[in-house]
Amino acid sequence: MPPSRPLTPPPEDPRPTESTDIANLTEEDCRQALVDFASKTCCYSSKPARDMTITHHSGHTAFCYSLETFTEDRTTKTKRVPYKGGPVNDSSTQSNDINCGENSMFENHTMTIEVPQSAKIQSCQDCLSRGYFNCSECGGGGTKMCIFCAGTGYMKASDFLVGRTYEDICGWCRGFKTGRCEVCLGTGKKICTECEGYKEIKTYTEMTIIFKNHISRHVIDCSDMPRHLLKKVNGNLQIHEVQDQVYPISSYPVHEVNTISTRLVNEHIEAFPNGNILKQRQRLQAVPVTEVHYLWENEQACFWIYGLEQEVYAPDYPTQGCWGCIIL
Ligand SMILES: [Zn+2]
Ligand SMILES: [Zn+2]
Ligand SMILES: [Zn+2]
Repeated sequence: MPPSRPLTPPPEDPRPTESTDIANLTEEDCRQALVDFASKTCCYSSKPARDMTITHHSGHTAFCYSLETFTEDRTTKTKRVPYKGGPVNDSSTQSNDINCGENSMFENHTMTIEVPQSAKIQSCQDCLSRGYFNCSECGGGGTKMCIFCAGTGYMKASDFLVGRTYEDICGWCRGFKTGRCEVCLGTGKKICTECEGYKEIKTYTEMTIIFKNHISRHVIDCSDMPRHLLKKVNGNLQIHEVQDQVYPISSYPVHEVNTISTRLVNEHIEAFPNGNILKQRQRLQAVPVTEVHYLWENEQACFWIYGLEQEVYAPDYPTQGCWGCIIL
């Protein structure tokens, strides 16, 4: 069954940012971006960037679309713990009211809680509310037959001066024939592992909620630079929409944006069962990309400047490699 649609109508899709608005670098801007790139990259000299001939450069706009679907998955199990005192079922919250909170929306995390009003206190059936068992080693007496004198109270002793043996009082049990039970340390008791000696058990329902953010990203770009790089930079935010469930973008002037948005929204509706979706967020960024062609030592090549941060991708930049890196 498809999930219900949001009640509020989709906002009017804005006009795209024109490439000239955000990717309008001058030749000198391009050169400076490359000089900065070379000077902060190991093994790169900035000399080629200063001296190369820039033959032409042109700017255009790439689009990064992202759709996030924030879901929750609830599971419950019965827990039994020793009851050590304190309030029980004092929360008036209902389990349906439990949510992830605004600050952790769209972040993966797991929450484990005691379901309100689910706790019961019962006497421990294992130890019949005594909190302990009799020690099986000493039968509860706390003492055992002395193993050094085998319960006789005497031990053989030797007098080397006169060359004879005789019986003496056992030095371990001092003639009492018994010693302390080392298993229960003389208490005669073994603590009940179920209630840990507290005599009562608290039984409650524990709920685990797994919050997960599912992200799909798509880059629309007409250049040859690797698209995954464009996902890592910022652009001008064109659309930022958070709803229980978003509408696909349908009237954006760049048609491919509408197509991608529709495809990803439908894929998410199919992938995540109805009722598990808490929120959706879709964002569209217009990312400036400038493609720069240059001539260096009679070789033609190009590099790209992309994102508002003006990152540089220059795979053919000259004079790569240095002894420092080779040794490392
Ligand atoms: Zn017990
Ligand atoms: Zn014992
Ligand atoms: Zn003894």
